[in-house]
Amino acid sequence: MKIKRLLVANRGEIAIRIIRAARQLGIESVLACSEVDSGTIPSRIADKTICIGKSRAQESYLDIKKLVNAAIQTNCEAVHPGYGFLSENPEFAREVSKAGLIYVGPSWEAIEKMGDKEFARNTVSQMGVPILPGIPTEAGLDKIKSLGFPLLVKAVSGGSGRGMRRVESEDQLEIAIEEAAREAKAAFSDDRLIVEKYLNSPRHIEVQIFGDSQGNIIHLGERECSIQRRHQKLVEEAPAINLHKNVKDNLYKYAILAAKSVNYQSAGTVEFLVESGKKPDSPIWFLEMNTRIQVEHPVTEEVWNKDLLCLQLEIASGKKIPFTQSDLSESGHAIELRVYAEDIENNFSAKTGKVTYYSRVSGAGVREDGWIETGTEVSAFYDSLLSKIIVKGSDRNQAIRRIKSLLSETVLEGIPTTLGFYRWLINQEDFLKGNVNIHWLENNYKGENPSGPGYGPLVIE
Ligand code: ADP
Repeated sequence: MKIKRLLVANRGEIAIRIIRAARQLGIESVLACSEVDSGTIPSRIADKTICIGKSRAQESYLDIKKLVNAAIQTNCEAVHPGYGFLSENPEFAREVSKAGLIYVGPSWEAIEKMGDKEFARNTVSQMGVPILPGIPTEAGLDKIKSLGFPLLVKAVSGGSGRGMRRVESEDQLEIAIEEAAREAKAAFSDDRLIVEKYLNSPRHIEVQIFGDSQGNIIHLGERECSIQRRHQKLVEEAPAINLHKNVKDNLYKYAILAAKSVNYQSAGTVEFLVESGKKPDSPIWFLEMNTRIQVEHPVTEEVWNKDLLCLQLEIASGKKIPFTQSDLSESGHAIELRVYAEDIENNFSAKTGKVTYYSRVSGAGVREDGWIETGTEVSAFYDSLLSKIIVKGSDRNQAIRRIKSLLSETVLEGIPTTLGFYRWLINQEDFLKGNVNIHWLENNYKGENPSGPGYGPLVIE
């Protein structure tokens, strides 16, 4: 079915990204927007904007009825959920379909199955994909202890690192389970937990996949996402460096098997933990599958030279993937830096406030997917992602030189951001050599905050 008009059920930078992709395909966009977001860049560039309610996400971006009604009322044929909010909520996908609209994403059944970490682990392992030793908490403390410490308690319905507790020893186990269950119940209305073996130095590597309604599934390579704080990503790169070709081939194979296990259609990401990755037989474990477009999709777009949002929209309208795996090849290197409103000197705590000046970033090989401008008020209602800076080079060294150059120019005033962290990161030998793992940041970063331009006197050497 042809999509003529699309409801964008999201905000911020991803709303802009969806509006732009729709425009490429001649699709009109209607932005569903909360009170506090009216007047922001996405609301000004959409073909049409509809206010869906108060600023609290529960009364706007998380209200399924309001969003479905907004789509019907504005004569949309399709709904794009973006990431976050309702993007991995099977009920939303089901209600959109029930209303006779196209949900730009996989089937609600695939979302439901992969959204349950325990079900997902069992399903992919039946296909031969390796999973970490782990068991549901119902199995009892003795069985859990037999996994050996350290352990990681996780919410079965979890996301964004919530409901997660690292457990070093037996005496911490019961309390960690209690706390995680409480947090999971509050955040996801589901207090089921699983406990996994905790890995001390793995890398987070994920594979971008696409499936269509004709059963074709392809991959678009991997992304390295090991630079994290609070189990959440800050920097992503494509391709991953220091990753043996055998390991890559296995990751692609496992990602496609995981997608097949739920008859996957649309854009999806299969996440893995990888030990070292330098040796051909480096261990790999399935982590989870994200059944939506990811924040970090632009690095894949840059090296595979494909517009993933356009592809997602075309697949949603029933088209088949217009290329095969052997038609695809990657070139160059891309790195994404997530600019969050956070106090990097205080454990990356989220901040709110007004952007009093923003210089924007630009230059050869530089792309910015962001939603803020001078004067933007960053509220506490939503996640604090302001912008994504994506840099492409013919190789990693060129990409890094370009990052150094843009970080020395970019000025963002009025609100603390993660930019200072990147000014520090870009000079770290481990980062430059690719010797990082998911715990590298917490083990090495002590809150350094090198200043950028416009601060202090210019030193002429
Ligand atoms: P969420 O869905 O909440 O984002 P994930 O299962 O995707 O949770 O894990 C998020 C991050 O937590 C991973 O990128 C990794 O850094 C860390 N993590 C998850 N499982 C483990 C594990 N078993 N051992 C060590 N770290 C882990």
